[in-house]
Amino acid sequence: MDMDLDRLAERVDAARAATESRGETFYEGPSRSQLAMFPPKERWDDWVELDSRAWPKRVEKRFMLVPTTCFNCESACGLLAYIDKDTLQVRKFEGNPESPGSRGRNCAKGPAVHNQITDPDRILHPMKRVGDRGAGGWERISWDEALDELALRIRSAIEDERHNEVMYHVGRPGEDGFTERVLAAWGVDGHNSHTNVCSSGGRTGFQFWTGIDRPSPDHANARTILLISSHLETGHYFNPHAQRIIEAKQNGAKLIVMDVRLSNTATHATEWVAPYPGSEPAILLSIARELIVNGEYDRDYVRRWWNWKQYLTEQHPDRPATFEVFEEVLRGLYADYTFEYASQESGVSVAQIRAVHAAVAEAGSQLAVHSWRSAAAGNEGGWQVSRTLFMLSALMGAIAVPGGTYPNAWNKFVARPIHLPHHPAAWNELTYPLEYPIAQNELSFLLPHFVGEGRGVIDVYFTRVYNPVWTNPDGFSWIEMLTDHKKVGLHAALTPTWNETAYFADLVLPMGLSSERHDITSYEQYDAQWLAFRQPVLRAARERLGETITDTRQVNPGEVWEENEFWIDLSWRIDPDGSLGIREYFESKAEPGTKLGVDEYYGWMFEHSVPGLKEKAAEEGLAPLEYMRRYGSFEIRTGIGPLHESPVPAEQYATDRRVDDYGRVYSRDPEPAKENYAPTGAPDPDHEGRRAVGVEIDGEVLRGFPSPSGLLEFYSRTLVDWGWGEHAIPTYIKSHIHPEKLETGQVPLISTFRLVTQIHTRSANSKWLNELSHSNPLWIHPVQAAEVGVITGDLVRVETELGHFVVKAWVTEGIRPGVVACSHHMGRWRLTGHEQSHRLNTTTVALHNDGSKWSMSPEKSHGPFASADPDTSRIWWTDVGVHQNMTFGVHPDPVSGMHCWHQAVRVVKAQEGDRAGDIFVDTERSRAVYRDWLAKTRSATVVSPNGERRPRWLIRPLKPTADAFRIGGPVGRRADDAPVAG
Ligand code: SF4
Repeated sequence: MDMDLDRLAERVDAARAATESRGETFYEGPSRSQLAMFPPKERWDDWVELDSRAWPKRVEKRFMLVPTTCFNCESACGLLAYIDKDTLQVRKFEGNPESPGSRGRNCAKGPAVHNQITDPDRILHPMKRVGDRGAGGWERISWDEALDELALRIRSAIEDERHNEVMYHVGRPGEDGFTERVLAAWGVDGHNSHTNVCSSGGRTGFQFWTGIDRPSPDHANARTILLISSHLETGHYFNPHAQRIIEAKQNGAKLIVMDVRLSNTATHATEWVAPYPGSEPAILLSIARELIVNGEYDRDYVRRWWNWKQYLTEQHPDRPATFEVFEEVLRGLYADYTFEYASQESGVSVAQIRAVHAAVAEAGSQLAVHSWRSAAAGNEGGWQVSRTLFMLSALMGAIAVPGGTYPNAWNKFVARPIHLPHHPAAWNELTYPLEYPIAQNELSFLLPHFVGEGRGVIDVYFTRVYNPVWTNPDGFSWIEMLTDHKKVGLHAALTPTWNETAYFADLVLPMGLSSERHDITSYEQYDAQWLAFRQPVLRAARERLGETITDTRQVNPGEVWEENEFWIDLSWRIDPDGSLGIREYFESKAEPGTKLGVDEYYGWMFEHSVPGLKEKAAEEGLAPLEYMRRYGSFEIRTGIGPLHESPVPAEQYATDRRVDDYGRVYSRDPEPAKENYAPTGAPDPDHEGRRAVGVEIDGEVLRGFPSPSGLLEFYSRTLVDWGWGEHAIPTYIKSHIHPEKLETGQVPLISTFRLVTQIHTRSANSKWLNELSHSNPLWIHPVQAAEVGVITGDLVRVETELGHFVVKAWVTEGIRPGVVACSHHMGRWRLTGHEQSHRLNTTTVALHNDGSKWSMSPEKSHGPFASADPDTSRIWWTDVGVHQNMTFGVHPDPVSGMHCWHQAVRVVKAQEGDRAGDIFVDTERSRAVYRDWLAKTRSATVVSPNGERRPRWLIRPLKPTADAFRIGGPVGRRADDAPVAG
């Protein structure tokens, strides 16, 4: 890079000399800083660039640069809004160089925020339904009307002890814990997430090892990077991880990508491994076996940190509990997982598996691994993908060391908020039903079936940046639920844009985009902890100019609001006099009895809860909030290192210390004050109520992991206790689409893959992204295409267990033969009656319903249209793909609860009259599929070892009181004596 800068400097000097030799004045460049990679932060108040719209004239524009955080995926990359100082409008977004995670870089979706905020079809005012749900009639109402209607219903539900009839269902949270605390303050166990259609499978495998449900690979320092996904291009923490993976590659690291498709990531790989979907654990266990057999693992690490003693004692009580015996048993446990067996299961050659093994073995502790959605989200038993993957890290001692993989909670920082409400004393069986006691997250995608079976009703249902009709499998069942007033009393969609779920809402409430709202975020992207501040950039800009802004609606377009101010206002209206004990959590500390504002909320947090921020801000003469408004992020510390190896101070286990048979140390000393609220497992106290404080290893008490044993749980006693003993150690579970389970003519459909330039359900309002990718053809190998008799562009019918969809074929060698794939991003639609909403990259469809039989057909293809943005009249494409998820039945994994996305399908030529985008579904079939998968479960009523609904130590986004865990325990109220929700 320096060489490039030197060369650039030479060129600038030469241009200067040439210009001046002609007697002309050399133009220094608008920034007066030709070599600036990024605008230096000292000049963010007044930055000059040439106005591209004035070209070829050289017209200088002056900008104020205000940081915020991208909301278009979970990476939370820093953005800089370029605010025109003449108009006070945002002209563009670029990367924020002060962001430690993204370091000034973004993917295409970052700059595309500008499309989203200028989308001519965005919702600018609160709307209330007129006529039937879904019919398309809407009237504009005021925020006061919307808030009063919501507050009245929620207050009634709370007063009538119908707490479980209030539910908040979130897609992209984008913030750390604000809304969970709102619900806790209301005493409502109403948090519902999208996680079981997203990452639960991946999380489960990591959590059973460490008590922490996400990995944080140190890609930049790895010698070998092993990815079970197209992680480099579209995976979790996409851009921040991608740049570090490329750094590692430049330093000679090997990149191994397991992906059935030739993704862009696979094209960068040293080894592209394309296994039969679901066979990944067989490959990973064969590599583990080889490491074990060859003695290529870190013996001392395994001896110190695995819970091998517990495994031997409980599963092999006849053998001495020594490490040598464990090693011998370990060799036998995985003896069948030969390379030949793995090859037979996966279709990957023995030679390639050997090559992957060699790369893992030579990496030593510099092995960075990651699996998130992909195979873990596609297959029944997919949670064993991450469990077997992390076994390689655990064998190599590649955990929380440079180039290895950290538990995420150590590389993440969640600050303490100004108020911590009590845990709700409620248990909501619509989200955590008894059949799924160890599900990682809420069984959200089963909601229509639970409500349909009469397990409960929802009086007030919030969807927030969430579009279940489109995102979830089995969308017609969602439409059936959402159009039934007896099942859903009032549905408020909190959304920046129209979507397939909002059409069926009663209230549509416009919420801000990345540059129009406040949130804090912190993600594990390297070995450090940082905090980023998303903010309404026009609010920050006008405050820099000396204005006082008290409500984000004062600066946002139309009446677009932000959730945090919305929740505070709504909570006050639910409990105006404080008699319900809710209002106190939304009051100012500085001025008791008045409403808390976001300035005070974040100002307090930044001042009191973020180590080092106050001092750093003071160096510049700023208050902490001013610092965050000015720079957008703060790196708290780097080099966190192996926290599990930290000694526990003796005073923390001085009182009534007890050490169990496996080294777990308990004490009655109180827990030290928490600094970081990042979610982890919470190890249970011992049977006499002592707190778990650490784990004794080689005579030293160390912090360990937040797993029940404090160790790396090769053996999960939790799985044994809760009825899944056969999977207590890392195993290979044959997927529901394993060849043995397919019927003649069926092939697996991979429906989970993402497009690098799309944002799940929120990019249809981004014209740049849609021009880049706007359709989702079916990937099909030439061999298979020949069998079906189709070529690229031909229509095919894909027959699923519920019905079928019609899509164009794309014949490619970029997928293994015998498997087809279709990206889930496309196929966006708008209902007839909603023609004016959300016109970018959608087709107008008509829904047809006859009993349980539903069909959807495009009425009009996509094309140019007139709007306030002239670019919409230049749209040149017509095919916007198909909404395949509608035709998928629900497949909850009986352990993790993850929806197992892969489908067993038949691909046939389209029939006469079929059109691209056609869909047919029978929801009677979808109910049958639901019952089939429900039959696989082992209910807590049968397996619970202690009469509780769920192991308490497992992470839950919003944890109820301990009492609510009891089967048959209380449902409904907030307990004033409950511990605070942190
Ligand atoms: S990776 Fe792209 S979409 Fe995700 S936060 Fe960064 S810029 Fe935004």
